[in-house]
Amino acid sequence: MDDDIPYLLLTPGPLTTTRSVREAMLRDYSTWDVDYNSLVNDLRQQLTRLASDSDEFTTVLMQGSGTFSVESTVGSVIPSNGCLLVVNNGAYGKRINSIAQRLQIDTVEAAFPETKQADVSVVDTLLQQHPEVTHVAMVHCETTTGMLNPAAEIGACAKRHGKLFILDAMSSFGGMTMSMESESADYLISSANKCIQGVPGFGFVICRRSELERTQGLARSLSLDLYDQWQTMEAGGGKWRYTSPTHVVRAFAQALAELKEEGGVAVRERRYWANQRRLVAGIRELGFETLLPDALHSPIITSILFPTQTFDFQEFYGKLKARRFVIYPGKVTNADTFRIGTIGNVHPADIDQLLSVIAEVI
Ligand SMILES: *Cc1c(COP(=O)(O)O)cnc(C)c1O
Repeated sequence: MDDDIPYLLLTPGPLTTTRSVREAMLRDYSTWDVDYNSLVNDLRQQLTRLASDSDEFTTVLMQGSGTFSVESTVGSVIPSNGCLLVVNNGAYGKRINSIAQRLQIDTVEAAFPETKQADVSVVDTLLQQHPEVTHVAMVHCETTTGMLNPAAEIGACAKRHGKLFILDAMSSFGGMTMSMESESADYLISSANKCIQGVPGFGFVICRRSELERTQGLARSLSLDLYDQWQTMEAGGGKWRYTSPTHVVRAFAQALAELKEEGGVAVRERRYWANQRRLVAGIRELGFETLLPDALHSPIITSILFPTQTFDFQEFYGKLKARRFVIYPGKVTNADTFRIGTIGNVHPADIDQLLSVIAEVI
């Protein structure tokens, strides 16, 4: 195979990046270097600005995949006598719950079927019944199905009850317009390799400064201590506590510049929606059905039902891959599905090509 012609990754990340983002990694940087550290601080500032115009917020970068940042947040901001209400309608909501349980944090679960949106009235009732809850956590775009959850409504509900709101906007931040204010978020988590279109290696948490300031000493992990990481970045002018993913950070700086060049998040969101709508219209013409009704879809990723009981996903995947399109297996429990992501350096013309390749192989 010719490695110079990349696959088009139609996945929820790592996803297709531009050549210029990958080329940004062709040089070495010391993690203890003032140019590098000021680049880090500049990126932190840019991320904060993507989420809010207010100085109330600050951004902490954390090594690892996105889950590390979720675990860092959950493990660092909830006091030992705190309690977390987790909204769960998919694998990533469930993962937040697993993280809290592993860390022996008390939880209350607002569980919904994977194909149903989280319901604010259920969350409201649970918050009335459980005054011990201190924090509410949920997933914005549940990448399991591609569903968009009503994060803003649930965030507002959490605020009415005086709770702090942690939003896993991993797969949507940078690709859908949102702000700390619109979502009522105190902590918003995402990672380098999703809609900002960087490569994998770190995540970031946009935090309400006045709340983060109160979390010193709460962390249940040394390396994932969000407060300590923040303090080091603040005091050290952009230093990370431990070895940082220098190449990934360079690529991320390029990716953020390209997000700006594209016209910002709203313009990118329109491109993602154009990809997703074209995919859904085309795939239906080919006889496939989506798992979710259109009203529940996000522009990020779409779950598609197997067309027949005997459909061989592995074979289908292999045929598409041989034609350089990499799709994703399904993740829902009660239906046979596969997923196609529509984020990354992917354009409507790519989706048209994919559709003609699918027409050819089925
Ligand atoms: C990608 C993703 C994560 C993090 O997954 P990693 O594999 O750890 O990067 C968390 N939540 C959601 C909703 C995601 O889409």
